[in-house]
Amino acid sequence: MTIYVMGHKNPDTDTVMASIACSELLRLRGLDAKPVVQGEINPESKFVLEKFNIDIPEIINSVEGKNIAIVDTTNPAHLPHDIDKANILFIADHHNLGGLKTASPLEIYAQPVGSSCTILYNIFKNENREIPKNVAGIMMCAIMSDTILFKSPTTTEFDKMAVENLAKITGINKTLELGLEMLKVKSSIENETPIDLINRDLKVFDIKDKKFAIGQIELIDASMAESKKPEILKEMEKLKNENSYHSVILLITDIMKEGSEMLIVADDVSEIENVFNVKCDENHCVWVDGLMSRKKQVVPPLETKI
Ligand code: MN
Ligand code: MN
Repeated sequence: MTIYVMGHKNPDTDTVMASIACSELLRLRGLDAKPVVQGEINPESKFVLEKFNIDIPEIINSVEGKNIAIVDTTNPAHLPHDIDKANILFIADHHNLGGLKTASPLEIYAQPVGSSCTILYNIFKNENREIPKNVAGIMMCAIMSDTILFKSPTTTEFDKMAVENLAKITGINKTLELGLEMLKVKSSIENETPIDLINRDLKVFDIKDKKFAIGQIELIDASMAESKKPEILKEMEKLKNENSYHSVILLITDIMKEGSEMLIVADDVSEIENVFNVKCDENHCVWVDGLMSRKKQVVPPLETKI
């Protein structure tokens, strides 16, 4: 029976590439595995797959009765609605444990590294399996993407080492140049609608029975989003009301300045301001120096202080 390998909703480059890499690993073990995604992939992921000549995974939204492997999340809210009816065989993730339950014993790998692809790289290595050139290429790109070119505080020595070794397999020596090319692709937002931008990397978190929708856009220069901000705020407001979210937070990360603009939409904005010790301007916006990681710098303070 086929094992479907998937990551989280609103797939980012790490989720897509880790699904493909994990499928490859399982296939090398002699199993029948297939990468899938839970929705349209982003422009950066398309660029990476095209560059290394790999097909875009098929979209599936239901996993009832299926054998599955999960990468890049363990949060049921970020998985298909019928995840409790799937047979989970394998997990590789670098987030907090998100509440997933399984009926049977499983194989699970978790490490606090910068990318799920770093964990998969380590598994390939431990099992002495050869990573195909094109798979090495997409894994390398995913690690650079998830660590924001090693600038995110989630970055570890393992991520840098993995990229170094994966680059050797691909024969690409100018990895940073490729990373910057990816950055340019993800920064071309002129033709993106505000709601598409918000949804590009939006995750919903259940914290103390309240739902927080937290998104992140990474740009070479945060001012590129300046003209779209009024529309973005309107869409955030709409999103909050339609889904009864406690709040909607969007990080517009400036990769060069190494910080983020935080846009906050909530009934009581001061509640969120207090958690992060910030004060928004009249446009619900505040610049936070050094803020690069939702996982490490936004979700944990909300979990403890809200
Ligand atoms: Mn991810
Ligand atoms: Mn990841």
